[in-house]
Amino acid sequence: MQATAAILRDPKGPFVIEPIEIGDLRRDEIVVRVVASGICHTDIKFRDTVPKPVVLGHEGAGIVEKIGADVTRLAVGDPVVLTFGFCGKCPSCESGAPAHCADHHALQFKGARLDGTTALSQNGAPLHGAFFQQSSFATHAVATERNAIRVAPDAPLDMLGPLGCGIQTGAGAILNSLNVAHGSKVAFFGAGAVGLSAVMAAAAAGAAQIVAVDVVPSRLELAQELGAHHVLDARDGDVADRVRDTTGGGVHYALETAAVESSFAAAIASLTQRGVCGFVASPVGRGTTPIVPFDMLINGKTLCGVVQGASVPHVFIPRLVDMIAAGRFPLERLVSWYDFADINQAVADAESGAAIKPILRMN
Ligand SMILES: [Zn+2]
Ligand SMILES: [Zn+2]
Repeated sequence: MQATAAILRDPKGPFVIEPIEIGDLRRDEIVVRVVASGICHTDIKFRDTVPKPVVLGHEGAGIVEKIGADVTRLAVGDPVVLTFGFCGKCPSCESGAPAHCADHHALQFKGARLDGTTALSQNGAPLHGAFFQQSSFATHAVATERNAIRVAPDAPLDMLGPLGCGIQTGAGAILNSLNVAHGSKVAFFGAGAVGLSAVMAAAAAGAAQIVAVDVVPSRLELAQELGAHHVLDARDGDVADRVRDTTGGGVHYALETAAVESSFAAAIASLTQRGVCGFVASPVGRGTTPIVPFDMLINGKTLCGVVQGASVPHVFIPRLVDMIAAGRFPLERLVSWYDFADINQAVADAESGAAIKPILRMN
C-alpha cells in the first residue's frame, strides 16, 4: 500500500515528506492510520546513530487499518496508542517488565524488525523503519499487535501519542517505579515533558510537597500551575541545600530528567534518609557521575534507573487516558500542535525548548 512519510537521509539534514510503499505484513503486525505523532527528544538524539534513510517517530496514535493473520487483540477500526517495541517472551517481558525486554535496544533503534527486514520501501529500495516498532512520522505506521494499545472510542487521539513514550516515562516514574506515597515529599530536576508529566502524576498521587528545579522561568511557572508547591532556579545557588531547606530536611523521592551531571548529583544529595532517586537518562556524554558511596551507604539511599516509566503499556496507558478524561492529568498544558508539513519547525522548536511537547497532525 501507499503512504506518505517524513524521510531522514542525513543526520543534520531536514525531514523530507515523500511517498513510500508499505509491503506485506507479518502475521503479528498491523497498519495504523496515524492521526498524530508526538516528537520526543529520542527522535532528535538518535538522528546520528540510526541507519538511514529512515522514517523516525515513536509517539504515534491512530486507527487500525489492517491486521495480520494472527492478530486477535485488535480489529480494523480500533483507536490505538502506539508504544515501544517488546518481544513478549523473554524473562523480563514474561515477568511484567517489557521496558527491560532483552531485545529492547534492537527493537527501538535498529531501524528494522528484529530479523533485519523492513516493511517500508521507496521506488523499490528498502527504507529503514520499525523505529520503536512504529516509525510514526508518516500517514501510516506498521506496528506489532503487542505495541498498539487500544483506547476508548472517544479518546482524543490527536493528543495521546506521547503517552506511548515521554509521558508514560514521567508519569510511570512516579506511579510505577518510585511508587510515590500520598503525603510524601518529591523533587524534580528538569521541567521538560518528562519532568512535568511527573509533576502532574505526583500531584495526582497526593504528594504533600512537590519541588521543581529548572533553569527556564516559564517552565518553573508552568510546573507551579501543574502542582509544584515550590520552584527553584538551579542557577541561584546550591540546589540540594535549597531543596533540603525548603522541605525541612530533604525529599523521599527525587526524579532526574535533565541528563546533566550537576543535576544528577543534586538529585541524590536532596534525598532524606532512605530516599530513592529515579533517573530517566544517562548524563550527557556518559561521563563519570559524582555518586558519593558513603552518602548512599550511611543514609540508605537508592538509585533507580527508569525506562518507559516501568510501564506495562496495556495497563498503564488506558489508566493515563482515564486520568486525562477525569481532569486529573492535564496533558493538554504541555502540548503544541503542528501540521505534518511543518515537521522541521516542530523539531527545531523541540530542540530550542520553544515547544515542550510538539505533536504533528497528519491530515
Ligand atoms: Zn522481551
Ligand atoms: Zn521517546
